[in-house]
Amino acid sequence: MTDSLASAALAARENAHAPYSHFRVGAALEDASGRVHSGCNIENATYGLTLCAERVAMFKAISEGARKFRRIAIAADTEALTPPCGACRQILWEFCGDIELILVNLQGATEKFQLANQKGPHFADPLEGWGEALMAKNQSHLALAKFAEAEKYAPNWGRLHLKWGEALVYAGKPAKAKAQFARAAQLDLTAADKAELARLATRG
Ligand SMILES: [Zn+2]
Repeated sequence: MTDSLASAALAARENAHAPYSHFRVGAALEDASGRVHSGCNIENATYGLTLCAERVAMFKAISEGARKFRRIAIAADTEALTPPCGACRQILWEFCGDIELILVNLQGATEKFQLANQKGPHFADPLEGWGEALMAKNQSHLALAKFAEAEKYAPNWGRLHLKWGEALVYAGKPAKAKAQFARAAQLDLTAADKAELARLATRG
């Protein structure tokens, strides 16, 4: 059974403006007085100005004077339920603390989490990707912070430790890099990641 907050998120998704990605998301945020603030993702031709559904709902609520929140529902058309990205989790954490998240898809599958208790690579993945993007821009010190944050969600993710080690090599910290490579070697890695590890470890 879909609860009313999840229904509100599904309805908000219908208003998504996603002409570039075609990935439509809806969110519904319930404040302490029971009022529901909805949001959808709104894309922009310059991708950086795009706003996620969760942040649209959050900012609408704040602009209307709401300050305390109970739960947020997030709706997307994916079989594996779509969690909030790192930027949205940061915003939610600041305004809501350890709020209840209700993820839902169009088939009515639903899962509940507390914001503080998210585990697993699908929560760490956006952070790890962000770290890799920072490394590609030669910002390995910023990348290190993203990898450290991702580790909170997926401490035993081999690839994360591999890329973390790589960032440490670039940041000029070979001893710490070696420790990350050793960690990665003990965890599950794809064949491609194993080859990359062998290549990087000789450099570290
Ligand atoms: Zn987001």
